[in-house]
Parts: sequence; C-alpha cells; structure tokens
Amino acid sequence: MDVNQLFEDYPLTRRMQRGEEVIWFNPDSGKQEVLPFTADDTADAEARLRRFAPYIKASFPETRGAGGIIESPVKEAPDMQASLEKRYGRDIPGRLLIKCDSHLPVSGSIKARGGIYEVLKLAESIAIEKGMLSDADNYAVLAEKRFKDLFSGYRVAVGSTGNLGLSIGIISAKLGFDVTVHMSADARQWKKDMLRSKGVHVIEYPEDYQKAVAEGRKQAEGDPTCHFVDDEGSSDLFLGYSTAAERLKKQLDGMGIIIDSAHPLFVYLPCGVGGGPGGVTFGLKTVFGENAHCFFAEPTHAPCMLLGMMTGLNDSISVSDIGLDGKTAADGLAVSRPSRLVGRVMRTLIDGAFTVEDAEMYRLLRLVMDTERLTIEPSGCAGFPGPSHVLGDAAYLQEKGLTGERLKNAVHLVWATGGNMVPEEEMKAYYKKGCQLTEES
Ligand SMILES: *Cc1c(COP(=O)(O)O)cnc(C)c1O
Repeated sequence: MDVNQLFEDYPLTRRMQRGEEVIWFNPDSGKQEVLPFTADDTADAEARLRRFAPYIKASFPETRGAGGIIESPVKEAPDMQASLEKRYGRDIPGRLLIKCDSHLPVSGSIKARGGIYEVLKLAESIAIEKGMLSDADNYAVLAEKRFKDLFSGYRVAVGSTGNLGLSIGIISAKLGFDVTVHMSADARQWKKDMLRSKGVHVIEYPEDYQKAVAEGRKQAEGDPTCHFVDDEGSSDLFLGYSTAAERLKKQLDGMGIIIDSAHPLFVYLPCGVGGGPGGVTFGLKTVFGENAHCFFAEPTHAPCMLLGMMTGLNDSISVSDIGLDGKTAADGLAVSRPSRLVGRVMRTLIDGAFTVEDAEMYRLLRLVMDTERLTIEPSGCAGFPGPSHVLGDAAYLQEKGLTGERLKNAVHLVWATGGNMVPEEEMKAYYKKGCQLTEES
C-alpha cells in the first residue's frame, strides 16, 4: 500500500494519524444499491427470537418481565443534553435520547443481540435436524436435560475483546454447548473470571483482537462439531443486531415520538469491527428509510471502519497502515481492521463516522453517571459527542436539508452499548478517572 498516496487522496487520514478527533461524512450515503440482506431476513430473525422467548424466560429470570425478549429501555436525557451543550459549546435542538443497551439483560451489552441470536439459531438447527424439535413447539423444552446432553456433543468457539465472549459464553454454556472463548489482551480480567465461573473455556492471548479471532478460527477448522462465531463476517450476528430497529420504532411510538421527514432521527453508534452498529443501521434504514441518519463512533487510536469505508478498501486496510497502534481503553472498540462484510453493506447506508479520544470517553462516562445515573463503560460512551459533531457541520446539514424546523424537531439517539455488568469497584475506578480527566482538561 502506498501510504503517501493515501495521505494525499484522503487528507483526513493525516489528522487521523496524528490521533486527532475527526468527523467524516459519507459521500455515497443515500445512493441506491442492491443489498445482500432484506427486511425479510430481519423479520425471520425476529420470529426466531420470539420462538425462543419461552426458553429465555425460563432460563434467565431477569427477562421474565419482558416475556423472554431481551430488550433495553430508551431514556429521555434532558440533563445530559444540557451538559453536552455546555461541554461542547453548541446547542442541540430537539431531544436527546439514550438507547440503554448498556442495560440489556443476560450479557449487559449490545452483543446480547447478535451473539445470543447466532447461538440460538445454531441450537435450533441442531435440535431440528436431530428430530427433537419443530418450530411449532414451545421452545421452553430446550431447558430439559436431554437437550443439554445433545448440545454437549457440539462445540462453539469465538474470538473476542470481551463482550462478544460474554454473550456467546453465557448463552452457549446455558444451552449445554462445550464453549471456548479466545480473548485478546484488551479483555478485562472480570470478564474472563465470570466466564470461567460459568464453565466456559477461556484462552488468553497477549496479542490483539485479530489474533484472538484467528486462533479461534484455526482451532475450529477441521472439527465438524465446532461452530465458529465469526465476528469479522457473520451474517447471523448482523441479522441478530438488526432486529433492534423495529423494536425501537415500537418504543418510540409508545413515547409518542414519530419519525418522518419533518422529524428526523439521528443515531450515534459506537463501532468496533462493525457488526453491531452495522446490523442496527441496516435495520434502522429498512424501518425509517432516509429519515434515519446513522453515524459510527470510534476511538482515535482504532478508527478501522472509518478508514476502511472512506478509502473503499474495507478490510484490506488496517489502522496500522497509517501508523496507529489500535490501542484504546475502549476495550469493546479495540479493533484495527474492520469486518469483511459490514463496510460493503454500509457503503450507501451510513451518513458518516467520527472519532473520540479515550480521555473524552472517561469524561463522558462521568457526565452520564452524574446527569442520568447510568453506568456505561468507556466504549459505550463513544456516541455522546455525536450530536455536537454533526450539528457543527453546516455544509452537511444544508446538503441533506436538515435545517430550521426539521432540526428543532429532531431526535438524537445515542446508543449506549455496554456497562451494566461491569463490577462496582471497576466502575468506581472508571468514574474516578473521569473526574480526574475532567479537572485536568
Ligand atoms: C462490541 C461492542 C461495540 C461495537 O460492536 P462491533 O460489532 O464490534 O462493531 C460497541 N460497544 C460495546 C460496548 C461493545 O462491546
């Protein structure tokens, strides 16, 4: 790769190389393109999750109130909105909402959508193939011992920086699979401890996420009983995430919030390898069409999706190619090379992407705790600077006709992607760091 040519063709990469916070607007956003997925694929995933609801309800008591559907609340956040206006010196007309995937039941992050979906789909296909289940059955039977015995003959493997490992490990172990999580150096100790306590095999690597995934893939190869959850390109993960959109629409309907061309929706999604934010964005575009404007948020040290999409090189480029180390305290986003699937699907769907410094994520963690009493991990806070970034670009807003009354009627939804399962001591240390960094700045 000719890096000097790259710096010339994409001047933003120079600022990215210096570790500056940047925002990129996607010139291909809104163009027509045939996508590899349809709304029917998402509906199929949602129907499968509904079939599994009786099993989830029986197996995870915290989902009982929601009938076994793993979903998170949407919260109005006027105090955070006022604090963000003050912090960045820019008005945020309209309302600020927080989508609390930080508080998703079972695994406490957005990975409870895609990760759990993929394992449930696997379990269903094995049970149906063995003639032990039909899709008309009450899936609560899956909690019976005979199914655990069946699944114990199968292996599940995944490579992860932490949260995907949690979701795959927890659901796989519950169903009875023999599950191995390959963890990168970024993964927090408590996540490894929690998984081991549930009988999950955890293998640690001193290297990064890419290495953990590669090892997981290698060990799964040649074992026909082993299912490898491929975070770098899985359609099942993607479709599991995509079910969030229709559910969000119902939640907004319930709050009396209508999204249409006079009332645009802006969504800010923390992004690692791209599957989570990509799947959600695909869903949002099928539900809200051009009235949803989606932006990805990445750490300044690991902006893999921004780099891959801006250059059109997708997974053929790594942040190391422009001299970045990929190291970030936002462990859920510590990814140097994007998904080989998602950038291509997102080409015409996302409006843009921006980067956030690690220190700023800690400050935002503290701010959202103080204003809204929400415990969100550093990665999960990356979306909060989004409204100020986007509203600061008059040219983009003008081009999209997002001005005047439309902006006053806008809904800015920040997707908070993880945090609820962080141990209290750990969270206190994060918060303290956020306070210190706020004083220093
Ligand atoms: C994994 C993760 C993301 C991003 O999802 P990707 O599929 O890796 O892009 C965002 N936030 C948190 C907390 C995560 O764990």
